[in-house]
Amino acid sequence: MGSNAYLLRQCPICQKNTQFHIEVCSEKKAEELAYESLTPCWNGFFKEKIFFSYARCNECDLLFAPIFYCQDQLEALYAQMPPNMDLVPMAALVRTQKEYYEELKKFSNLKNDYIEIGPDIGIFTENCSKGGNFDSYWLCEPNKGVAEALAKSVDNKKFTIIEDMMGFSQIPDQCAGVAVMIQVLDHLLDPVATLAELKTKLLPNAKLLLVTHNEKSLLRRIVGSKWPAFCLQHPQIYNPESITRLLEKSGYRVDSIKKSTNYFQFSFLLKHLLWAFGIQAKAVPRIFNFTIGLKLGNMITIATPN
Ligand SMILES: [Zn+2]
Repeated sequence: MGSNAYLLRQCPICQKNTQFHIEVCSEKKAEELAYESLTPCWNGFFKEKIFFSYARCNECDLLFAPIFYCQDQLEALYAQMPPNMDLVPMAALVRTQKEYYEELKKFSNLKNDYIEIGPDIGIFTENCSKGGNFDSYWLCEPNKGVAEALAKSVDNKKFTIIEDMMGFSQIPDQCAGVAVMIQVLDHLLDPVATLAELKTKLLPNAKLLLVTHNEKSLLRRIVGSKWPAFCLQHPQIYNPESITRLLEKSGYRVDSIKKSTNYFQFSFLLKHLLWAFGIQAKAVPRIFNFTIGLKLGNMITIATPN
């Protein structure tokens, strides 16, 4: 299980001791609880909300947790975690990811090799396989349970599944025209190192597509510290300014940042909003089972290597 001590972090963008001030914390703070007693909170969505306090870096504006799980603890926690994709109905997920694809298509000719970090069952990958003209697909996905679905998502095209989220060393240098990370960057302890290594795999005019939460979004302002993205899985959360600085530090320039629409079954959304306000509803009436689109606090970023 590794060490019980948490990691003390500097700002992961500035990578030096900067001044910061605590901005968001839960009633019970994760950093005040022992590792073992915190583990049950890691998996549950409807239990008491506990997270590591988030501070704002005075230099780069990033919202990050100065105390967080260390890498060994994170690996152990992710290994015991059940897959969470079936929380959101499939039709809603497909529609949400279609919008990401349409955005990528505006900037990329969808050629050369394709890299995706954490594709899960390949909902986004399938869009690129059907609409793009890629030579080879490099898919970093540690969850063996989705391998079959993932293979299907690229049809009969050439692909390699790398069972390590950060196993870029197996990918040839300067081969890819597109790299994709959907809801991955908020989870990384050292996002600069990951993006810099990924850059070595990209062609000069390649496009990087990132989907992350946006902590300056309207939803975050409405629900405050109860915003679902404040959680034990996110060592930092970006906003348009801080993600721009992160990309510059990692050797990229930003082409575009856009608020994304998330499609939900209304019943799903209602349940989660009620939960955010402290009401636990196991089921809501079936009349709420329709799909709606909302700009709920995610952003799509497109960037190019420098
Ligand atoms: Zn900073």
